[in-house]
Amino acid sequence: MSERTVGILGGGQLGRMLALAGTPLGIRFRFFDPSPDACARDVGALTVGTWDDANALCRFVHGCDAVTFEFENVPASSLDALESIVRVQPSRLALATSSDRIREKRFFQSCGLAVQPFAEVGSAAELDIAVATVGVPGILKTRTLGYDGKGQRIVRDARAAQSAWESIGAVPCIYEALVPFDREVSIVAARTVVEGAAQFDAYPLGENVHRDGILHTTITPARVSDALALQARDAARTVAEQLNYVGVFAIEFFVADGILIVNEMAPRVHNSGHWTIEGAVTSQFENHIRAVCGLPLGSCAPKLPWNAMVNIVGCVPSPEKILADPACKLHLYGKAARAGRKTGHINVSAQSERALIESLAQAEQALAHSSC
Ligand code: AMP
Repeated sequence: MSERTVGILGGGQLGRMLALAGTPLGIRFRFFDPSPDACARDVGALTVGTWDDANALCRFVHGCDAVTFEFENVPASSLDALESIVRVQPSRLALATSSDRIREKRFFQSCGLAVQPFAEVGSAAELDIAVATVGVPGILKTRTLGYDGKGQRIVRDARAAQSAWESIGAVPCIYEALVPFDREVSIVAARTVVEGAAQFDAYPLGENVHRDGILHTTITPARVSDALALQARDAARTVAEQLNYVGVFAIEFFVADGILIVNEMAPRVHNSGHWTIEGAVTSQFENHIRAVCGLPLGSCAPKLPWNAMVNIVGCVPSPEKILADPACKLHLYGKAARAGRKTGHINVSAQSERALIESLAQAEQALAHSSC
């Protein structure tokens, strides 16, 4: 393969892991991020700039063969400028659809997928109508820029709705029914187009446990019926085709009463796919880089039947404790510890569910011993 350069908008851990996976393919990486401390700077050149500085972005992509994202909220005006210079994937359509929770929910409905009851909130009067229509308990979320549970408030009593809205800035929101789910699952999938022919593949469905709105563990395969897992894969294929998607993406679902309800999608590599680094034949990071470079996908099959990931949040453990268990693979992102900040993760793989649960428990214990 001739040498390529990929530009990544965002220099966090996702960008870092994309570069670590793509470098063996002979690809060079560069990053654009507002922070001079962005952790991807360890694995490629970092340009520091603001997202609304279209000139700086254009200089950054000059000489790139492809550009992709690990941060989705780049203003449309900056994207316009970039797209006239270089191939940018995933597409504008995918970004615009997934960055607005109302637009995203309507898109899922147009794909024939089940979503929780929801209503748009743009004013105090609309909030009253939304709460009356959807009912309580519900959850109020900012339409844009929310992540890891930020910009969200649960509303258990209609009388508390207005103050909940004010506490998140009275900005445009979505009000959703609170789903009494049995479990949360996500599918990480990839689509590429090579010489006009599309190729789609998906990793086994992952089962996710959150703590304080932040992903804590992913176990795959999710403990759901084969039929439900297939339904999630079909949903991902439909979404990818409708968006003419190129790259890796994830869709998060609730499982309630045996039914899949779509919560949201992420137009990028996803935390619930980190296990694929050692656990799959081709990691989500490598497949994303392959796709944005117009290359064929590698297999998404797991190497061992059971895989898991546990996030490291708010601390940086000493490697000795974690690595004492030979089943644990440690990934630290080179980030300083801060409350609620993801600083790394641990992957484990096993032949059986039981062995996996044991390894996962050991990983959590090792984290606890490191005061994590
Ligand atoms: P989100 O930012 O939409 O991914 O929400 C973060 C987490 O909050 C989800 O993974 C769920 O654990 C919880 N959550 C969000 N929306 C709902 C909902 N409508 N019903 C129940 N739990 C929710």
